Amino acid sequence: MNIHEYQAKEVLRQYGVPTGKGAPAFTVEEAVKIAEGQPGPVWVIKAQIHAGGRGKGGGVKVVKSVDDVRAEAARMLGMNLVTHQTGPKGKQVNRLYIEEGTAIAKEFYLSMLVDRATSRVAFIVSTEGGMDIEKVAHDTPEKIATIHVDPATGLCPHHVRTIAKTLKLDGPQTKQMSKLASGLYNAFLEKDMSLLEINPLVVTKDGNLICLDAKINFDSNALFRHPEIVALRDETEEDPKEIEASKFDLSYVALDGTIGCMVNGAGLAMATMDIIKLYGAEPANFLDVGGGATKEKVAAAFKIITADPRVKGILVNIFGGIMKCDIIAEGVIAAVKEVGLKVPLVVRLEGTNVDLGKAIIRNSGLNVIPADDLNDAAKKIVKAVKEAA
Ligand code: GDP
Ligand code: MN
Repeated sequence: MNIHEYQAKEVLRQYGVPTGKGAPAFTVEEAVKIAEGQPGPVWVIKAQIHAGGRGKGGGVKVVKSVDDVRAEAARMLGMNLVTHQTGPKGKQVNRLYIEEGTAIAKEFYLSMLVDRATSRVAFIVSTEGGMDIEKVAHDTPEKIATIHVDPATGLCPHHVRTIAKTLKLDGPQTKQMSKLASGLYNAFLEKDMSLLEINPLVVTKDGNLICLDAKINFDSNALFRHPEIVALRDETEEDPKEIEASKFDLSYVALDGTIGCMVNGAGLAMATMDIIKLYGAEPANFLDVGGGATKEKVAAAFKIITADPRVKGILVNIFGGIMKCDIIAEGVIAAVKEVGLKVPLVVRLEGTNVDLGKAIIRNSGLNVIPADDLNDAAKKIVKAVKEAA
């Protein structure tokens, strides 16, 4: 789960991490009021969307008067902000964050993640902050340092020294970094983060360290123990189909293609998407209905797929192991009875209770195209969609 920058900064402040001073605004008047409560003479207005690259896209503005705060807030609220992370469609700006301006001397990059290769939390730091870290990693990888923290010892002075050396910090800044890094480390562990990115972490003209941007991803599997984090969720940032799917505990990701997929198992779902592409079409979604799905869950999944206007055909591909083919068949039929079926449907069933599943579909009177295997199924759905177009 993602949260906004201003929310991320609120979380980090609870751990004593230094950030700029600011507050969120939902209207131009709120933005002006916040700015008037700050000393000035510089304010920063930042569009709050779940995507980076806002600076280059016009979503971060440094201004020098409250009148300019008003003008920029009016321009940004409601705008469609396109950045390299939003895709060409962009995202509508509904919230702003108004922060006191910071005089920047240097911009660094700092992030934390769970490194699966070492099973450790890692800090990644670089002097090349503010800009595209991907480009730095590609062109000058020696400018990026990765520091792994052993969970048995936690963060130690030597970790901080390595970070400080990489960033060429002086003595007082190294002291600040010690507090900052341990605040970040504690926040990361206690809140079950999967990614924390501070870009830029700056040294101010006064020589102090401050986090000027903050992006946090939380591990969805641990959200049950963080109701205070779940409360920060902004559903307007998410795909309504994905929100609906999450209510039924379905692993669903909306995509741009025309063929809706209902599959069990993440690996089979990936393979199904690949083979659809191989035959010249694009999947409309990733969907893993999981192992122990009920008829109701399958029906909910099928309804989410059919409600997508881009879906021109549906491929059901089930290998019944724990999941039983007859449950899938009953779920599909229950959903079709409720919402109808306006596009071609190819069903490939294999495994536990396959004969029962096939019989249920045969006797339902549904116009289903049966398939023998994955290859056959993909060919048939791509052909059916092309013929219907
Ligand atoms: P992003 O583009 O979405 O990653 O947004 P950031 O929050 O990183 O802001 C982009 C850039 O705006 C930063 O790299 C800074 O150079 C600049 N910026 C942000 N806040 C301030 C500020 O308080 N003062 C100044 N001078 N620049 C700022
Ligand atoms: Mn940034």
